[in-house]
Amino acid sequence: MSNFTHDPTTRSWVAAAQAPGCDFTLQNLPYGVFSRKGAQERPRGGVAIGDQVVDLAQLAASGLLPEHARTACSVAGGETLNAFMGMGLAGWQPLRHALFRLLSADTDPATQAQVRDCLVPLVDAEMKMPAQVRNYTDFYTSLHHALNVGRVIRPEDPLTPNFQWLPIAYHGRASSLVLSGTPFRRPNGQSRPAAGQVPAFGPCRRLDFELEMGFFVGPGTALGEPIPLARARDHIFGVCLLNDWSARDHQFWEMDPLGPFLGKNFCTSISPWIVSMEALEPFRVPFERPEGDPRPLRYLDDTADRAAGSLDVQLEVLLQTRRHRERDLPGDNICATSFRHQYWTVAQMLTQHTVGGCNVQSGDLMGTGTISGPTPGEAGALVELSVGGTREVPLPGTGEVRHFLEDGDCVVFKGWCEKPGAARVGFGECRGEVLPSIDLDHA
Ligand code: MN
Repeated sequence: MSNFTHDPTTRSWVAAAQAPGCDFTLQNLPYGVFSRKGAQERPRGGVAIGDQVVDLAQLAASGLLPEHARTACSVAGGETLNAFMGMGLAGWQPLRHALFRLLSADTDPATQAQVRDCLVPLVDAEMKMPAQVRNYTDFYTSLHHALNVGRVIRPEDPLTPNFQWLPIAYHGRASSLVLSGTPFRRPNGQSRPAAGQVPAFGPCRRLDFELEMGFFVGPGTALGEPIPLARARDHIFGVCLLNDWSARDHQFWEMDPLGPFLGKNFCTSISPWIVSMEALEPFRVPFERPEGDPRPLRYLDDTADRAAGSLDVQLEVLLQTRRHRERDLPGDNICATSFRHQYWTVAQMLTQHTVGGCNVQSGDLMGTGTISGPTPGEAGALVELSVGGTREVPLPGTGEVRHFLEDGDCVVFKGWCEKPGAARVGFGECRGEVLPSIDLDHA
């Protein structure tokens, strides 16, 4: 599945794309939507390269692209990426390949100068939501997360019997999706101090993050039309970072028996850049199950997905408190793991979602569920890191500790892929800050 756009030896004439640790290499070319800061102008699609954004609307009008790529580029230059996502591989591939050629160092100087006219410095770009997300679903596909959380809420039987047989999910709330950098208020809600006691109303006292990735649906489907596992790849546009902020006290009281509600619906953050599945191709790894676990049922199993259905994306979580910011510190790293440990693949998630006939639309967002790896430092939520709030999570940078999030705390996710023989492909970051709750008693 690899092609010339994965060749790590090809360099870009955008110098910053070669800087060590750069997320936005020539081999990445992630998609987002932006407008220039302070300018009264229409948002449009862009592709990040080094420290620049290629303005796709302007590039489409430049006459530099061959026919198929030009059509795709003008669609991707719209105010959201929904229509471009809906084009499928027939649109995604010609544009990626043409962009790679135009931005590579062996492009002639005259062409380089024309493309340079279409660049906007990243620091001058104000990022927007990349798609109009009409439907958002959040899965629950990390075995280690399920066990860690299960031990807190059901110690006698931590793993529900369905976990090993199907990618479990709940239908989330698209209206409260926000872009990285958008702060949110600590939610108010109902919780029960202890079993048998009367529930209380007030600000969340167990506010948490969930380290997740999100994937966007490409071409949609008609009602009643399942996506077989072998075709799932054609319907997945790309991947971003996602923080499924969670009010644990509200969630654990309300979720039995219908699932999360206010514990999850107050805010979900996503990173602005979507890394395409084609860019992630070198980082596919075999889908593996622990010895002795059941093989997926036939509709969730095929040789291609078994051979390369998982993605090796390195992930880390930084917690930055007010005190870190006062001292100009980036925050403390409280989790480092990889997406490769997930118990189900993104293709299996999409197939499960549609197997009963549920239709999907271009731009629909699927969260993968919290990503926790096998060791304690790989837990992707505070409820796991603090073992249900019973242990302190140390922040060595300031000497503070946390059990759950406090007002002013900022959580930053970073993600990237690296391996010998491939160029680095990074996701940038997903950031959000907790603001104090609204005081409903004295409002
Ligand atoms: Mn979640």
